[in-house]
Parts: sequence; C-alpha cells; structure tokens
Amino acid sequence: MKQSYEQLIFLQDRSIGFKAIIAIHNTKLGPALGGCRMWQYTSDENAVLDALRLAQGMTYKSAISGLPYGGGKAVILGNPSQGPRELLFRALGQKIHELQGAYITGMDLGTTVSDMDWVRLETSFVTDISGSLGAVSELTAKMTAYGVYLGIKASLKRAYGSETVKNKIIAVQGLGKVGYQLCHFLKQDGAQLVVTDINPKLLKKAVDDFGASARKPHDIISVPCDVFSPCALGGILNDDTIGQLNCSIIAGAANNQLAESRHGEMIHGLGILYAPDYVINAGGIIVTSVELDGGDAAAAQWKTEKISNTLTNVFSKADAQGISTAEAADQIAEQLIGS
Ligand code: NAD
Repeated sequence: MKQSYEQLIFLQDRSIGFKAIIAIHNTKLGPALGGCRMWQYTSDENAVLDALRLAQGMTYKSAISGLPYGGGKAVILGNPSQGPRELLFRALGQKIHELQGAYITGMDLGTTVSDMDWVRLETSFVTDISGSLGAVSELTAKMTAYGVYLGIKASLKRAYGSETVKNKIIAVQGLGKVGYQLCHFLKQDGAQLVVTDINPKLLKKAVDDFGASARKPHDIISVPCDVFSPCALGGILNDDTIGQLNCSIIAGAANNQLAESRHGEMIHGLGILYAPDYVINAGGIIVTSVELDGGDAAAAQWKTEKISNTLTNVFSKADAQGISTAEAADQIAEQLIGS
C-alpha cells in the first residue's frame, strides 16, 4: 500500500478529558468515509498508527467496491466502557462539522448508535444514527457477515473448484456482531464450525445455537480447517501466527488482518489463499454508502453480492501475475484511486 495522507488532525480538550485523532487519507473519489473507534491505546503513537492504517484501508475498500467515497477514520482515546460520553462525541462532531463534509463518520469498535446521535447534534456528516439504515436491525454488521459468507464461497471455489460449504471446517475467531451472523449463514449451509471468543458467554451461545466446537482463543489459529475466518481484531496475521496456520483459506471480517504488508507475501508463499480484508468485509461500508445516496436495504444487499465477483477478479489477477492476493487487491484499488 502506498502511504500519503491529506489530513491528520489532533484534538484535545483537557477540561472534558477529550483526546482524539481524525485521519483523512484520500478524497479523490469522494468524501472520506470511515467510522469512529473508541479504544484505550497503550500510547498516543499507537492511536495515530491505528487511525492512519484504518483510514487508508477505507480508501482502498471504497475504491475496490466501486463506491463514490474516499477513506478516513476517527479515533477517540479512552476506555469505551467508562465515563460519560456526550461531551466527547459532541466535541468530535464540532470538528467534523468544521471540515465541511471532507470526512463523514459513523460507528466502529467501541462506539454506539447513541454516540453517533451525540455527534449528530453538532453535524450532519455522520451515519449510524438512530433510525438509520445501518442501525436498524444491525444491518451494517449483518451485511458485512453476508459479504464475508459470499467471499468464503468464492474462495472455496477458487481453492477447491466448488463453492460448497457443506462439511467444510470453518474456524471463526470472534463471535461479536459480525462473527455470530457469519456462523449463522455458514451453519445454514452445513459447515462444521470451530469457534472462539474471549467472551465466554458469546462462546457458549455459538456452541448452543450452532453446535459449534469451542476452542481457547490462542488455539484457534492452529486448528486444522479449510477456512480460518478472523472476525475479532486486526494484526492477527503476523510473524508469530502465520507459521501456525493449518488452513487452505483465510477469509474473515476483521480490518487490517495483515500486521504488515509483507505478511501477504508470506501467506502467499505458504500456498494459503488469502481473501484481502478490505475486499471481503465491504458489506458494512456498502450499507453506509447506499444510505447516503438515498438507497434501501435491497440495494445494499444487491451491491454486497458483488463482493464475490470483486474477489474472484483479485484472485485471477494474482494468479495471472504470480503475485499475492494482497498485492493484487492493492494494485486494483490504486489504479481506481489514480495513485
Ligand atoms: P464486535 O466488537 O461486535 O466483535 C468482536 C468480537 O471479537 C468480540 O466478541 C470480542 O470479544 C472478540 N475478541 C476480541 N479479541 C479476541 C481474541 N483475541 N480472540 C477471540 N475473540 C476476540 O465487532 P464486530 O462488529 O463483530 O467486528 C468484528 C471485526 O470486523 C472487527 O475487526 C471490525 O473492525 C471488522 N469489521 C466490522 C464491520 C461491521 O460492520 N461491524 C465492518 C467491517 C469490518
């Protein structure tokens, strides 16, 4: 991935305990779209790096999905489960309003619909507010899961010659909003699910609801399976974990799965088919984009179904040029962005 950013904004107001970053990566194809994450980072530097990488990922995700948007991200530094939030999200909203539409925010890890409602009191450049398409019935997460499910089928077709999910062993890491829905789609098709989550309640629910086999969080990476599906946090594919993989395919919802770009080459070298994260997990941003353009849930589903084709094109380009799928996706996105 090429790195150059349009804006990096630091915000601080000690009187209300507010510290945040807005990163705008690229607006060539349209306003920068990307949610707001709230997280307790171990350092300010890590927060900046996270915002930058996530913003860039959003540019590539929108471009390769054919959406008229660029990429950006906001992060609020803080514990998402502690303290009052109204003043923090209103302060963020004020800054977003000053940017006059260059950046449009929404929900991400650690933020909720009610947080976005606070932002909405200050600016209209926000999605995922109460009553929005994305918020209703958690459509954003559901469509993300649906896109990943279709992407898994496209990956099975590429690796095995058939998209049949029945009796395939699929290891799902993370059973939150997306991971749980994904298990639902896969179980309906007869997959054998092996699952994990650091939250024991979610793990038990997946075992009870889907007859899934449970693993401890650190064991999931080495489970012998057809598909490893990372649906928790980013950076899961790194120097420590790649050698432990025991799968034919990696296809999941988490953003920034590769700790560094070079890990895409390492996975390619092992003969594992990697479905690039920002291609396969675009269902959520598709919902947001469709809503901003006045569309409905049916339009979002129709556009999400195109993920299979996009992914197949990435696989074909990688095969034709003898490059990794991660590199092939980056090249397609960069051509579309014109960088
Ligand atoms: P979530 O917070 O609802 O779920 C994440 C789950 O992962 C939680 O249940 C958490 O307990 C679990 N988890 C965290 N660390 C873990 C570990 N080490 N091992 C096992 N489980 C662990 O989030 P979500 O909305 O389901 O999103 C999942 C991933 O997909 C995130 O990386 C997110 O950025 C990405 N994503 C989400 C969407 C969306 O629409 N929600 C869209 C695109 C990408």
